[in-house]
Amino acid sequence: MKYFFAVITVVFLMSSDSVRDIRKEKQKVLKTIIIDAGHGIRPNGGYDGAKGSYSWEDEICLAISKILVEDIKKNFPEIKVVETRPTEKITSLYRRAEIANENNGDLFISIHCNAAPPVRRSELIGYKQVTYYVGKGKNRKKKVKEVPQYRYWTEPSQAKGTETYIWGAHKTEDKELAIRENSVIFAEENYKERYGPIDVNSPEFVAMALLKTKQFFKRSATFAGMVQDEFVKIGRVDRDVRQRQIGIWVLQATAMPSVLIETGFITNPEEENYLNSKEGQREISRCIVLALKNYISWLEKRQTNENEAEPSSNKPSVKNDVFHFLRHVQDIESHKHSFTYPVE
Ligand SMILES: [Zn+2]
Repeated sequence: MKYFFAVITVVFLMSSDSVRDIRKEKQKVLKTIIIDAGHGIRPNGGYDGAKGSYSWEDEICLAISKILVEDIKKNFPEIKVVETRPTEKITSLYRRAEIANENNGDLFISIHCNAAPPVRRSELIGYKQVTYYVGKGKNRKKKVKEVPQYRYWTEPSQAKGTETYIWGAHKTEDKELAIRENSVIFAEENYKERYGPIDVNSPEFVAMALLKTKQFFKRSATFAGMVQDEFVKIGRVDRDVRQRQIGIWVLQATAMPSVLIETGFITNPEEENYLNSKEGQREISRCIVLALKNYISWLEKRQTNENEAEPSSNKPSVKNDVFHFLRHVQDIESHKHSFTYPVE
C-alpha cells in the first residue's frame, strides 16, 4: 500500500510531458508480442492437439489466446500484438515462426495444454482352474492349477499443473514430450516439401539454435519464471520452467525470447473443466499479463543499467542468421537447393 501511494505521488509531481516520456521508454523494451495458439483444425478437418474427455486442446489454446490478446491490448496499448493462429484453422509451424520473425517480435508466447497418458490399473478378481498334463505315454498325468484372474482398466492420469518451456541450453531427458511435439511436424501434410531434409538434431541446426539460445535464453528463462510465479500465486500446481533441447520447432526458429506455456492438463478431469471455463481462461490470461508487467519492468531496469544490458548489436545479427536459415527453408520448398547451413 505504501508503495502504491508513493507511485501516485510521483506521478502527480511529474509534468504530463515527463509521464509521456516514461511511456515512450516503456515502448522501447517490448514493441511486439507474438501470441501463438497451439495446434488447430487440419485441412482435412481433424483436430491436431491433445484430446480430453470432452474437449480438444486446439479449442482451449485459441480461447485462452483470444482473451490474452485482448488483455494485452487493454493493459499495454502501445504494444503491437500479432496472432499466428487467429482462427480455428491450423497454421503450419513454419508459418508460425515466419509470422513471428517477419513482425520482428520481441517476445513469443505459445499457448498449449498438457496431456498425460491414462494410468493402467489391475485388480485380482479370482482364480481359474486350468488343466494341464505332464509326462509321456503311461506316465502321462493330468494336473490342475489355479491361475489368478485380473481385471484391467484405465484411469485418467492425475498429473496436473502448469509448466513453461524454453528452448534449452542443456540436453533434456524428456524425450517423450519432444517426440510428441515433433510428431506435429511430421503429421503436417507435405512435410518434406515444407521442411526439406532438415534434421533438427544436425550439428548445423543445433549450432544455430545454440547461438540464438545464448542471446535469448536469459530473457526467455526470466519471463518463463515470472509466468510460473504468477500461476503459483493463484494456487496452481507448479511444474516449473523446463528446457527443451529438441522438440519445439517454433521455440528454435523464432528469433526472439520464446516460451511455450502448458496451461494445464486436458487429461486431468478437474483441470479439463478449469481449462474449458471462461473463469479459468481469464485467470490464465491474467497470470500471463501480470508476468508481462514484471518482465517489462525487468527489461527497463536492464536498459537503464548499461553494464547489465546485452550489446544491442547482437540482436540484429542473430535475427539475420535465423532469417537466412528460414530463407533457406523456403529455397528447399521450391526445390532450388539442397540444405546447407548458411555460412557468413
Ligand atoms: Zn500442444
